[in-house]
Amino acid sequence: MRAEIEHRNPAQPEFHQAVHEVLESLAPVLAAREDYAQAAIVERLLEPERQVLFRVPWQDDRGKVHVNRGFRVEFNSALGPYKGGLRFHPSVNLGIVKFLGFEQIFKNALTGLGIGGGKGGSDFDPHGRSDSEVMRFCQSFMTELQRHIGEHTDVPAGDIGVGGREIGYLFGQYRRITNRWEGVLTGKGRSWGGSAIRPEATGYGNVYFAAEMLHRRGEDLQGQTAVVSGSGNVAIYTIEKLKALGANPLTCSDSGGYVVDDKGIDVDLLKQIKEVERGRVSEYATRRGGSARYVAGGSVWDVPADIALPSATQNELGADAATTLIRNGVKAVSEGANMPTTPEAVDLLTAAGVAFGPGKAANAGGVAVSALEMSQNAARDTWTPARVEEELLRIMRDIHHTCYETAERYGAPGDYVAGANIAGFERVADAMLAQGVI
Ligand code: GLU
Repeated sequence: MRAEIEHRNPAQPEFHQAVHEVLESLAPVLAAREDYAQAAIVERLLEPERQVLFRVPWQDDRGKVHVNRGFRVEFNSALGPYKGGLRFHPSVNLGIVKFLGFEQIFKNALTGLGIGGGKGGSDFDPHGRSDSEVMRFCQSFMTELQRHIGEHTDVPAGDIGVGGREIGYLFGQYRRITNRWEGVLTGKGRSWGGSAIRPEATGYGNVYFAAEMLHRRGEDLQGQTAVVSGSGNVAIYTIEKLKALGANPLTCSDSGGYVVDDKGIDVDLLKQIKEVERGRVSEYATRRGGSARYVAGGSVWDVPADIALPSATQNELGADAATTLIRNGVKAVSEGANMPTTPEAVDLLTAAGVAFGPGKAANAGGVAVSALEMSQNAARDTWTPARVEEELLRIMRDIHHTCYETAERYGAPGDYVAGANIAGFERVADAMLAQGVI
């Protein structure tokens, strides 16, 4: 099947990587379930239900015309409307969107909330663009995308490069063209239909997942040092929750380098630099004073810590980094980003007995709160932050339990990768089986 996947989807290495990892885990399930094979469930799952590619022309502030490419891959809707973020980053291509959409199917199934899997985005780079340029780009992007989405069809959200500002512009254009106010996007502003705790949810959820993994080993987060990569939404709220639960997050990073702060990252300063000023982490070290230093280039994984939470992007933690983390005594690695750990690194970590939480389980808190935002919109209701956070904690504990229990049931105790892939797959596969050859 490996060769067939590569042949049918040429030049999409990230998609191949995501598929191979899932298929490896599924071997015992497929051996036991002849009905899945007969219904060609896996073959159908590997083929997105629909893939939309479109031109996004826009004008910069000087009147120059640019052309970007837009994507929306509607992967699987057996469990609910397609759900998944939009990524705006120069690295975005069809293979990247397909890997993310494929992961999203299983992640969303694990939340238990009735959402299918999809993903989208563009190779547009918002960095260095003015607000009005970003607005014009978002309006052009949505002018095409709007015909493919809807609250019962496909509900995009943010991802790398798409935050509250972009969701606002995208939502405005959807509403203008369709003349409908509906929960068609999640991650909206709190005052106009967004859920409390949505910006925080991915990071908070990942910390809850890491805490559950540690509890299984008779430990908790109190007093643990943590190395966190990234400085976007996921990293910021990972750091915030680690601190709240008594751990000491030492680092954050961006594409230029990383910061180590012996006193623990000051979340307010990091938020000011990243969320308000849209600056770089190097400024953090300058403004923080004595306890922090900036390392240009280099690897954040060189910093010794008890737990590691990769929260930047795919394949950011490779074999060398895993070897260093193991040598420094890391106990747990929990993925805030999507597929940040390479397959070689995952093998090394698990062979060394490190607890490893794969993104499709560990970072599912973001999309879970998106689903809660959809519920609130559908009911024209607004929940309190306390209620949303209570739900988030319950969902993350459930996901951890499901993965743990499924791995045990299939003879792979402690293997959260197998547990997440199998449990997510079973939910989608059973729905597909019940719904016939679609
Ligand atoms: N982009 C996020 C993820 O990777 C969130 C998706 C959503 O909220 O729909 O899960």
